[in-house]
Parts: sequence; C-alpha cells; structure tokens
Amino acid sequence: MASINDYKSIAGEEIIEEIQKLASFLKGKIIQNINSTSVGGGVAEILARMIPLLKETGVDARWDLIKGDGKFFEITKKIHNALHGMNIDIPEQDFKYFTEVTERNLKEINFNGDVVFIHDPQPIGLIQVKKRPGHKDKKFIWRCHIDISNANARAFNFLKKFIDNYDYSVFSSPLFSKKLTIPQVLISPSIDPLSDKNKELSPETISGVLEKFKIDPSRNIVTQISRFDRLKDPLGVIDVYRLVKKYVDCQLVLAGGGATDDPEGMEVYKEVVEKAGDDKDIFVLNLPPESNIEINALQRASTVILQKSIKEGFGLTVSESLWKSKPVVASGVGGIFLQITHGRSGLLSKTIEGTALYVKQLLQNASYAAELGKNAREHVRHNFLITRHLRDYILLFIKAGLETRENTIFLE
Ligand code: UDP
Repeated sequence: MASINDYKSIAGEEIIEEIQKLASFLKGKIIQNINSTSVGGGVAEILARMIPLLKETGVDARWDLIKGDGKFFEITKKIHNALHGMNIDIPEQDFKYFTEVTERNLKEINFNGDVVFIHDPQPIGLIQVKKRPGHKDKKFIWRCHIDISNANARAFNFLKKFIDNYDYSVFSSPLFSKKLTIPQVLISPSIDPLSDKNKELSPETISGVLEKFKIDPSRNIVTQISRFDRLKDPLGVIDVYRLVKKYVDCQLVLAGGGATDDPEGMEVYKEVVEKAGDDKDIFVLNLPPESNIEINALQRASTVILQKSIKEGFGLTVSESLWKSKPVVASGVGGIFLQITHGRSGLLSKTIEGTALYVKQLLQNASYAAELGKNAREHVRHNFLITRHLRDYILLFIKAGLETRENTIFLE
C-alpha cells in the first residue's frame, strides 16, 4: 500500500508537509468513522484509503460499521432513491423499522470518537447517542454523499430531525444541499491515484485482464463500470451501444458488482443479462469485491467510457476514468457536473441518442478523444485527488475537535 510520502511526486511536496503539520493538531483525538458497508460503492472506496492515510499521518482514525438485515437495507435503498428525488412511497412501518435497527446499533457500537463522522443516511440516527450520558463533548458530523436538493419531502423530513442535531454537515457540492439549521461544509470526494484501482498498470496486466474476460483488444471497447443499479441506467447503456454499433464497430463492457447495503443489485444484473441477450460483443461482468486491478485494467483498455447515470452522488467512476486520460461521455447529473466540463474534460448528454452520437464521434476521432482525455487528467489532478481530500478532512476535524480550545483561533 502506498505511503503518504509516495504522493509527493503527484501532489507536490508542500501539500504533503502541510498535511503532516495539520495532522499534528489532532494528536490525542480519536476520529471515528461510521458507515454501512466496507465494500462496494464510493463511500467504502474512499474510507478504505482515507483511514490508512490518516493513521499514517498520526491521526487516530477508526472505522466502524452499522449492522442491518436485508429488510433494513431495502428500506435504506428506498430512502436513498427518494432522497435522489424519486417519487417513492415509504410506508410508516419502514421508518419504524429503520428506527428499531438504529436503536440496536446504538446499543452495539462503542462510541469512542472525539469526532464521530457518520457517512450517508443509513447510520444517520446514531446521532441520538449525543443526548445520552458521556457523549456531550463529542462532535458529530454528518457526511452526505447524495444530492438531496430535490429530495422527496417525506424521506427528507424523516431524516431532518436527525440532521438538526449534528454539529456539522458535509456535502460534495453546493448544488446538493438544502437549507439546514446546522453549518454546512463543502468537500468533494476524491480518488487515490496510487491505489490498485488507479495506479499505472503494465500492458501485460491489462492484456491479461482482457484475455481473462475474452474481450478483443484490437477492437473498440466502450465501458461503464458501476454497481448494477437502475439509477446508473445500465439498460440505457445497452441502447446507446446498439445505436452506435449501427455505424461503428465496438464491444460493450458493463462491469459492476454488489454492495452489501444495496439489495437490488442481483435483480438489475439479471435484467441487464436478459437485455444483452446472445450478443457476443456485450460483456456483462458481475465482479467480486476487491476486483480493483480488473476495474483499473478495464478502464485503461477502454476506447470510450460511459457514465449514463439518471441520478448520481459524485460518481467516483468518472474521476477514475478521467485520471486515466479516457474520453468520458456522461449524463449531466449530480457530481458529474463538477468533474466534466462539456467539450473540454469530457462530453455530457442525458439522452440515448445524444450519448450515442458522442460515443460515435469519439470512436471516429482519436485525436479529439485524446485531447479530452489529456484535459480530463489535469482536471482530476487539480481537484479530485485524495491528498486534497485528506487535507480538507483534517481541517474539518481540527475545527470540530478543537472548537472548544483556545487554539481554534488559528483556523479562523
Ligand atoms: N466499484 C467497484 N466494483 C464494482 C463497481 C464499482 O469497485 O463492481 C467501485 C468503482 O470503481 C468506484 C465505486 O465503486 O470506485 C463506485 O463509486 P461511485 O461514486 O461511482 O458510485 P456509487 O456506487 O457510490 O453510487
């Protein structure tokens, strides 16, 4: 695993030195992260790298998970979709069950952080511990990775009574938030350029992965990497591919896997397999967790990468692809707007026809594709690398954790 000093050549020496200096202000403080899954999806992806890097800088960072059963995660998936603005009816008994599972987790989790950093809606109710004996001096931060600006009112109102009790909230973009009674901090997510998911790979490793999946390296490869989730529109991706294929030869790779907190994955995967039918040029890959090298290789081997999401939080897969200098065609939704400036660092379209047109253009014009890819990598270098994120989080923890101490003043 890469060490903090290895990032100097990518992010610059000064930023690494600054991170180390800032981290020293957190000596003796415990930063406790809590979310709902250790694998699958962007939150786990970030925490898996953020925690070791924080530890290396001397911060006592910890990571706990809430426990929930299938029914709980079906409910939280409904809440997730409703927060994204989908018109979903969530019955009262679902909220009741959510509260019961939260109560169980409140009993089981050892709240040992000076700063308790809660990620996303699934564990949001843990804030109730603040009112219990022994926790009043802790600071609680809610990290929302979802665009809740158009949230379904019923789902949002249920969560709001928890949100109001946090000390801070963190959103990825100003466009994602709502008017809240608590302070809001803006921190966008990031990718780790030295992780297995994003590090440079040898041509042999890339061709080995293509061979394993029987993908032809001599032909165009159009790829979308995402959990099998309707909001990532994998069926729409197949429509795009079929339209493109009328004009330009290509293969389609739809690779994804599940997350333990997403119960819909298998159902959506089956729908995708059915729609792909017997087309030998469509590769629907249900990857096990920890397929980081495979995903890295598939992204690097692709001619064009798609992210046809209907709704999106940040969309780490976009930054992962941009960092690999790939031309990306994505929908202009959620955090994708932060990552792609249309015509400069990628192309944006929400429709099947528009997306197909752009894919066709890129497949037919390699120099245009290369120019977009070059800009894309620089955009990620300046905005979405883990070193920037690490610095932002440390500053937030200092502000939250030391707020009552005199030396807070140095941050103001
Ligand atoms: N991912 C993965 N395996 C898969 C599908 C996705 O490791 O089968 C990773 C992907 O590379 C990215 C993250 O999971 O790092 C997904 O994050 P994103 O923000 O794109 O979407 P989310 O799943 O959080 O909605």
